[in-house]
Amino acid sequence: MVAASFFKTITAAAILVGTVLAQDPGEGYIFKCTRPGVVALTFDDGPGNFTDEVLGYLDAAQIKATFFVIGDNVAGLYGDGLVREYQKGHQIAYHTNSHANLNNLTAAAVTTEMTKNIAAVKAKIGVEPVQMRPPYGNCNPACAAVMKKLNLAVIQWNLDSNDWTFETKVAQAQGLYDNVMKGITPSNPAVDNFILLMHEIHGFSVKFVPKIIESIKAKGYTFDTVSGCLGGTVPPYKEGWGVTYNGALANGASSVPPSSAAATASVPASGTNSVVAPTGALTGGSAPPNANTNTTGGLAANSKPSSAATLGGNSMLAVVLAGLSAFAYVLTL
Ligand SMILES: [Zn+2]
Repeated sequence: MVAASFFKTITAAAILVGTVLAQDPGEGYIFKCTRPGVVALTFDDGPGNFTDEVLGYLDAAQIKATFFVIGDNVAGLYGDGLVREYQKGHQIAYHTNSHANLNNLTAAAVTTEMTKNIAAVKAKIGVEPVQMRPPYGNCNPACAAVMKKLNLAVIQWNLDSNDWTFETKVAQAQGLYDNVMKGITPSNPAVDNFILLMHEIHGFSVKFVPKIIESIKAKGYTFDTVSGCLGGTVPPYKEGWGVTYNGALANGASSVPPSSAAATASVPASGTNSVVAPTGALTGGSAPPNANTNTTGGLAANSKPSSAATLGGNSMLAVVLAGLSAFAYVLTL
């Protein structure tokens, strides 16, 4: 009996370790959110043919997600899809230029993968994301050194739909939903949180997005971007949180950092300015594109100051200090 139960323990541990080892660990790598009860939906490998379908589902559910995009797709056929993702207030992050396995590349080649990815994204949306997800979760110490040099935060995940595995067995795609629920069902939103990995380039997977959202909501979770679910500790862009695009705020949305969210809640009309200011000050006052052109009242980011709701007014100073130190953290990554 003892031997049998010991074996079971070892097996379970091996499975757990096996799961974790699917992604490289590394200093500062982020595997989960910090706010309990929050799920960050993340979509890799796009933009692509199903981008608008995903955006439609997210709009319908009124939630913001994070897209880890490939430079070649952005610079190629799908650049407009990236712009729509950004304009709608979803968070944009990198997934290399060509979906390379970074562990197989020289440091110079890894750098090129990222600088091309950065250039492609910036050319389309005018800002520089500061977060990346390595394809396959592969970013060994040599890769990590490059990311640190480029000031990019490495975002892994702690819940995997494994949706891509159904590409050759689409009839069984329900299994990707089951994979998600294997993490959600036994979890406790009072303490747990998830960065959920999906892909926006598989139609069979995208079709499950509404059902996945519905089930996660029913369990008691809310949704936010990666930056939002981290409680404002890692802003989405080099330019900070508040940037405008053709007059509309697009900044990672419901993920307004706590300090900005609090300010926004009290002065909705000037929410954008309060969001932009801290970053501008830290980066020598270089304002993001169109920063001064925002005059619209219909700002997605102002509609869900969820972080502010959890903060008392007297915590403002602490929150501002936390925001500043968080930004410094990104700069030193
Ligand atoms: Zn990928």
